[in-house]
Amino acid sequence: MTRSRDACAQPGRGRLYTDGSGTDSSETDSSETDSSGTDSSETDDENDEDRSRRARRESMTVFPLRDRRYLVDTAGGTYIVALDVGTCSCPNHEIRGSRCKHLRRVAMAVTEGALPAPDERVSVCAVCGVETFVPLTASGPHLCARHGFARGDAVRDRETGETLIVTGVTDERADEYRTDEGRPVDEYPTNAEYGAHEPVIEAVYAEPLGPTHGVDDARRYGFPASRLVSIETTVETGT
Ligand SMILES: [Zn+2]
Ligand SMILES: [Zn+2]
Repeated sequence: MTRSRDACAQPGRGRLYTDGSGTDSSETDSSETDSSGTDSSETDDENDEDRSRRARRESMTVFPLRDRRYLVDTAGGTYIVALDVGTCSCPNHEIRGSRCKHLRRVAMAVTEGALPAPDERVSVCAVCGVETFVPLTASGPHLCARHGFARGDAVRDRETGETLIVTGVTDERADEYRTDEGRPVDEYPTNAEYGAHEPVIEAVYAEPLGPTHGVDDARRYGFPASRLVSIETTVETGT
């Protein structure tokens, strides 16, 4: 008994003996104090690198909320992080004003693309259904990085191998968008392999373009989004 109390006095070993003698409650208290004391002394001593390491390694669950903030659930408590103003509801941040591990964790996840940024929300790609982050205010169809195009992007037509320049992403699906002939895009045999639900991308053929014949002068064609592949993607894939 005496030995176990002695052992309790040694920091770090107390926990092994919490079921010891009649001083259970004080031991429990002291072990609680020990662990929180350990936490805060770690916080006092640790530098930015330590905090970043803890932010990366410790088990935390992060959910983006609807109001630009994030819920961070840890073994030690549940906190609210506002990344854009740099605040967290945990004591470390509220009392010390430190850039705590919760803030760091959220910042890392956003940088890595695992979570939407504060001014983004989760949506799904209109072509493949994969989750994609879009601006909070975005409307119309959303496309993932693989299927998303912007005006001026060089793309390859999977059917003909021809190079085109994207002029716009429409709000219309392939079964709604009509060509100059008045036919929906999805009814063309060359589009049979692509989804009727896909948004139509407008593009012009690159070949006739030149100093006197710009993108705006060229005839536009509508394509189901997944029929076009970014030229960069093609190069990266290597085949
Ligand atoms: Zn925090
Ligand atoms: Zn997609």
